Amino acid sequence: METQTGFIQPADRLTGLPTQFFAKLVAKANAQAAKGRDVINLGQGNPDQPTPANIVSKMQEAAANPLYHRYPPFSGFPFLKEAVAKRYKEDYNVDLDPTTEVAILFGGKTGLIEISQCLLNPGDVCLVPDPGYPDYWSGVALAGADMHFMPLKAERGYLPDYAAIDEETRRKAKLMFLNYPNNPTGAVASAEFYAETVDFARRSGIAVASDFAYGALGFDGKKPISFLQTPGAKEVGVEFYTLSKSYNMAGWRVGFAIGNPEIVSLINLIQDHYYCSLFGGIQEAAAEALAGPQQSVVELNALYERRREALFGALERIGWKADRPGGSFFCWLPVPNGHTSESFADLVLQEADVVVAPGVGFGSHGEGYVRLGLLTSEERLIEAVDRIGKLGLF
Ligand code: PLP
Repeated sequence: METQTGFIQPADRLTGLPTQFFAKLVAKANAQAAKGRDVINLGQGNPDQPTPANIVSKMQEAAANPLYHRYPPFSGFPFLKEAVAKRYKEDYNVDLDPTTEVAILFGGKTGLIEISQCLLNPGDVCLVPDPGYPDYWSGVALAGADMHFMPLKAERGYLPDYAAIDEETRRKAKLMFLNYPNNPTGAVASAEFYAETVDFARRSGIAVASDFAYGALGFDGKKPISFLQTPGAKEVGVEFYTLSKSYNMAGWRVGFAIGNPEIVSLINLIQDHYYCSLFGGIQEAAAEALAGPQQSVVELNALYERRREALFGALERIGWKADRPGGSFFCWLPVPNGHTSESFADLVLQEADVVVAPGVGFGSHGEGYVRLGLLTSEERLIEAVDRIGKLGLF
């Protein structure tokens, strides 16, 4: 990392951060749009729909409440933790003690970074999925720990193979990240896999961080299961839940770490040093999201499923063969022979004005694939595929 004058020297912990692969993608897409081209951006993961009206009105009302103009309680308002516990009981039949088993976060991302700092020392190992969400790497780097990549392969349904982890790595590992429904592959996990995970984690002394960011998004009538539904899960780990995707609240920055009370208290401890919880009005609106009507979640799921069908219909027409995602709003598509994920992404940007995310940006096992987000209208998704079809690559 270069500084302008050399007077300011960044700390090693910053120079050791992984490079932001996708910043390059954004710059390339912006450069194409600056030429006046009609770019269809399927490369990002930013929900395109507005937050449901009942949540927005609750925020408008709450903004005027003087109680919220003062500092909030350090670990957040009890009513919000109670709303999380209620949602988990209704949706997953999971019992949570709101006072000890729920930590409020500034979005899931924050907690996913914090947990590594809470549990890892330099020299410890963290097991991370490959391909996977790059923020896991950032947290591990900030903790000065090492990563061991668990390959996610199509033939195993993109679930890691614990038997392939060598003994020494297993001994050094203190934390593992899992993420189902999965970004970037769209895969979902089974109850058997989670049972195997609890057993492996318990035998190996490894804490589990289940990233359930896409928990509300499951297709074909199948609701994704929560890791916390697994017997013994709470003894070994926590789940990260966010309002960003379920309620189109990515800009509001509200998430939770729930489950193991010791991990929850460590996350609250580190947060006591960084923050003083979220604005109270946001907490009240978040409680409305969780405890209020859930019809918007059903409709959102249906919207993404319609988009998935529109996209796969168009893919079939141009001869691009791929498996449909079981959950999340991502589609994971193999690139044509003779291309890397990056060369293919560059080509479709230059020749078809379509942005797709190269799989290699999610880890070396993402090579050979690109990720497309279902975050624009059916018409635009179909147009994007038609434009790619005209390149005659399939
Ligand atoms: N986990 C995964 C896999 C994600 O894709 C994202 C966001 O894109 C997040 C976590 C974090 O979401 P947020 O910080 O908005 O809660």
